[in-house]
Amino acid sequence: MRRVPIRVLGVLLAVLALALGAACGREGSPSGAAPVAGVPVAQNVQVPGSPTFAAMQQRGRIVIGVKNDQPGLGIQDPTTGQYTGFDIEIGRMIAAGLGFGPEQIEYKVVPSAAREDAISRGDVDMYVGTYTINDSRKQRVSFAGPYFVAGQDLLVRADDQSITGPQTLQGKRVCSVTGSTPIQRVRDQNLTTNVVEFQNYSQCVDALRGGQVDAVTTDNAILAGYAAQAPDQLRVVGQTFSSEPYGVGLPLNDAALRNKVNDLIQQAENDGTWQRLYNETLGRSGTQASPPPIQRY
Ligand code: GLU
Repeated sequence: MRRVPIRVLGVLLAVLALALGAACGREGSPSGAAPVAGVPVAQNVQVPGSPTFAAMQQRGRIVIGVKNDQPGLGIQDPTTGQYTGFDIEIGRMIAAGLGFGPEQIEYKVVPSAAREDAISRGDVDMYVGTYTINDSRKQRVSFAGPYFVAGQDLLVRADDQSITGPQTLQGKRVCSVTGSTPIQRVRDQNLTTNVVEFQNYSQCVDALRGGQVDAVTTDNAILAGYAAQAPDQLRVVGQTFSSEPYGVGLPLNDAALRNKVNDLIQQAENDGTWQRLYNETLGRSGTQASPPPIQRY
């Protein structure tokens, strides 16, 4: 007889928890946002001379291009639809600084190879997703930041002792992503002739686990997230061989927005927000990091 009241109590507690969750705005918003950011949404923001900002205000939403398969950086939970990760939090922080709350963010998944097109066509207002700042991309888009610096590394099967760095890849099957800086580097430096190319790194990781390739190469921050999902099977080699400064991709001719986004990143770096966002996402792996200096141009 005692069981029924306990069950009722349980149901009541569950309902209460749900209600509290909803009241805190943590669940159920159209974008599926669950921000750890907690950055206050700025009011009456103006970005004079920015056509991109004018378009966002007009539509009442900001469209942010992201990745959805990179744990720790940008990943979407398939059941809840929620996005989490450091890139996502940087996007939420910038959106808040521009006056857009989590429920006013629309995420658009754009793979590496399609980023310049998506930004220059106006499919997204900005892109936050392991996007290396470099001169060739600067021909087509502009960058705020960097807000993080990663380095190219290798992911291998945990029991493979034969791959210890980029110089040990000859004759190995190496997977990376179309349009990325790491695949370009493998080719430029002739690290192997056997390159397998996919649209997304998670496809490369599946191929590694399935034995179709011997290594996945991209930024250490990305690879660490995959290794953490299967520590018994996968291992990051830990010899970085490039510098990958991550920028926020923006339309080419919108210097006003680039300046504003740089201001927002700078502020987050100065007031401890950056560190908090890092600690709650990528930093959970135990790797320390501090914010890099912003490079304005
Ligand atoms: N950061 C590198 C790049 O922008 C690799 C990661 C990625 O493809 O997003 O190409």
